[in-house]
Amino acid sequence: MSISPTKRLSMEGVDVEARTISSELGNLGLDSSKEAGDGSSFLPGTTPEALFYVLPYLGLKELLTLETVSSQLREAIRGDVTLWQQLHVDVPLNRKLTDAELVGLSSRSHGRLQSLSLIKCIRLSESVIEHIVEANPMLQKLNLSACTGVSAEAVLRMVKIQTERRSPHIPGLTQLRIRGLYGVTPEILESLQRMMQSEGNHSASDVIPSPHYYKNGEPSPAISEEQLIDIEACPKCRTARLVFDCTRPTCEQRRNIPLQQCRGCYLCIARCEECGVCIDGDDYEETFCMEFLCQSCWLRLPKCSECNRAGCSRHIEALDISETSIFSCDSCQGVLPGDTGPIFD
Ligand SMILES: [Zn+2]
Ligand SMILES: [Zn+2]
Ligand SMILES: [Zn+2]
Ligand SMILES: [Zn+2]
Ligand SMILES: [Zn+2]
Repeated sequence: MSISPTKRLSMEGVDVEARTISSELGNLGLDSSKEAGDGSSFLPGTTPEALFYVLPYLGLKELLTLETVSSQLREAIRGDVTLWQQLHVDVPLNRKLTDAELVGLSSRSHGRLQSLSLIKCIRLSESVIEHIVEANPMLQKLNLSACTGVSAEAVLRMVKIQTERRSPHIPGLTQLRIRGLYGVTPEILESLQRMMQSEGNHSASDVIPSPHYYKNGEPSPAISEEQLIDIEACPKCRTARLVFDCTRPTCEQRRNIPLQQCRGCYLCIARCEECGVCIDGDDYEETFCMEFLCQSCWLRLPKCSECNRAGCSRHIEALDISETSIFSCDSCQGVLPGDTGPIFD
């Protein structure tokens, strides 16, 4: 369940216009000088009771927005440790989140953080994340995808801390997501796997990864909860990256034959953005977004009215047009493509 703070919420007959986050986090709504209830939509003590019941279902942005609505809500949100045991920062807050703000948010769980997920949080430094890991022994899930301020060595240290404190009461790290980090060598990846697989995680290590196909830069289906680490050494180039399987029926049949399999990272095997099939020279069709499409996907997707090139569905969506309307692609309009891409390293 997710409620956009920019929409009007109607609860128990009370219309609440949740305000957008003050100056986009001003920052993150953690400014203690800003009193809760400023411009509140409610009279003191009149916060609709239903709002308290939806809190566990809201994301970070919604919680931070509601904090500013009334002092009652602010107290309820900040005082409930369970709301802060899973901290997930993604678009749009990720690019603005600073070290100090992350420390503030993580401290709300009072050392009981279980899941820390920081997607493309490019302003964060590794020392602060390491400090948070140290302060939260119960941390089981760590997602640092494309946090470019975090080195592979820092990830090693964090996993080591959690591994060494593992006990019957402390599970240690059971899930690590590090796609898009710099410097993860096959040796480092092996050390991470070894540490995470030891002792308590036997059952998880026995799980054979199911195939993941390529779909708009993401694995499809998504990496399962049981998989310890999202990346693996690419069978072709040995670089630690997401590895994709092939949707082409003849390639699928060869999945278990090491020298013939069509498995590899996005750099080793070009794949259709839409259906994940491997692209060979004859099958390639030119696109306005410079990504690969197979012939059949190219034929069905909308084309730019000027250059007659198709684009992948992600870029079509970014142009904010319907599938049937006439449009000009960014390059025909002389505009650089926006940052709509997936995480690549
Ligand atoms: Zn590769
Ligand atoms: Zn295709
Ligand atoms: Zn293939
Ligand atoms: Zn065009
Ligand atoms: Zn595209």
